[in-house]
Amino acid sequence: MKARKTSTTNKIHTATLLVVAAGSSTRMGLDTKKEYLPLNNGTVLSECVLSFLKTNKITSIAIAIPKAHVSQATEALYKNPLVKTLTQNIPVLFVEGGATRQESVYKTLCAINESFKGEALSKVVLIHDGARPFVSEKLITACIEDAYNYGASCPALQPTDTQVQIDSDNNIIQHIPRPSLAAVQTPQAFDFNTILAYHKRAVNLTCTDDTEIWDTFNATKTHIILGESTNIKITYKNDLPEASKMIRIGLGYDLHRLVEGRKLLLGGIELPFEKGEDAHSDGDVLLHAITDAVLGAASLGDIGVLFPPSDSKWKDASSSYMLKTAWDLVKKDGWKLENLDCVIALEKPKFIPYREQVCSSIANILEVETSQVFVKAKTGEKLGKIGRSEAVEVWVTCLLSK
Ligand code: MG
Repeated sequence: MKARKTSTTNKIHTATLLVVAAGSSTRMGLDTKKEYLPLNNGTVLSECVLSFLKTNKITSIAIAIPKAHVSQATEALYKNPLVKTLTQNIPVLFVEGGATRQESVYKTLCAINESFKGEALSKVVLIHDGARPFVSEKLITACIEDAYNYGASCPALQPTDTQVQIDSDNNIIQHIPRPSLAAVQTPQAFDFNTILAYHKRAVNLTCTDDTEIWDTFNATKTHIILGESTNIKITYKNDLPEASKMIRIGLGYDLHRLVEGRKLLLGGIELPFEKGEDAHSDGDVLLHAITDAVLGAASLGDIGVLFPPSDSKWKDASSSYMLKTAWDLVKKDGWKLENLDCVIALEKPKFIPYREQVCSSIANILEVETSQVFVKAKTGEKLGKIGRSEAVEVWVTCLLSK
C-alpha cells in the first residue's frame, strides 16, 4: 500500500459528518448500546464525534440512531460538555435508522439532503461508525483531503497475519497473498451528491459498506489511504479501556488510656479484660481510627470535627454509629472502600482469638466484604505505656476509590 497522498491545495476542505449508531450492540452482551457506554469525559458517542469536531472541518452532523432513541442519544452525545461548546454553530440532526446499516445510512443521507442547506452541507460526507471513538484528527483530515482528490476515500490496514480461504468444514482451500488484501475502516469519505445517488440505486442490493456501493456504480473505485491500528471498532465489552479510577489513601490514628471500670471495645466487639478505654464516647479506639482514616482519605474532616467531645450529645456515644455516619458521608461523595488495614498496640488480652469477629464486625458496619478488612495486634514487649497496659494505640490505613 502506498503512503498517504498529501493535498496540493491550500483551501480548507470541509465535510458533513454522518455517524452510524443505529445498531443494537447485541455482541456486547449489555443492556446499554455500546455508543452510550462511558469513555473518557463522556461516552463512546461523544468522544467519537469530538474527534471530528476537533479538526474544525465539520460543517454539519447527522447521527443515525435506533427508533425512539432521541433522548438517550442526545444525553450520550452531550455527556462531554465540550461537544455542546463545539457544536454551537453546527447543525446536529438525529435520524431514525433502518433495519440494516445500509438502510440507516441511506435514510440519513436523505435527511442530510433535506435538512442541511448552504455552507452547512459540505461537498464531502464522512460516514463513520459510532463505535470507533479512537479515530485520530490526522486520519480524518487525510480522508477528507483524499475524497476531494479522488471522489471516494477510505482508510484500510493490510493484514499482518497469514490470510487463507476456508471451506465450510474449516479446511484451508488456499493461501491468499497479503499484499492484495486490506481491512477497511471508517471514516469513509465520498462526494455527497454522488454517494446519495448511488445509495438510491442500491436500495435493492445488499452491500457490506458504502465503499461497496460506490464501487458498484462508479468507474473509478474507492481510493485507499493508510488506516490506524488504534482506530478499532468497539464490538466486545473488553474493547473498551477500563475507565480511569481515582484512588485515595487515608491514615487514622488513635490512643486511649486503659482504666478500670470501662469496657475494652475493639471494632465493636467487647474483649474480656480488667480494664477498658477511658473516653467521652464508648471509647472504641479501633473504630475511631477507622473513622479518621476514611474521612481523611475523602478530605471530609475528622472525627473531632464531626463529633466534637464538647457536645454532650456524643457522651457515651456508640462508635459504630459514629463510623456509620462518617462512612455514609464518604459514600455520598462517591467513594468505595478498597481495603482497610489496621494495627493495634495492646499488651493484653491476646487479640488473635477475636480477630475474625472484629474484622467481620467492622465489615458489617461498613457494609463491605470481610476480606476487605484486616486487623493485627502487637504487644509493647512489656515496655512503655503499652507494655504496662496503661494505653491502647491503633493505626489504620485505608484505600478508597471512585
Ligand atoms: Mg478516640
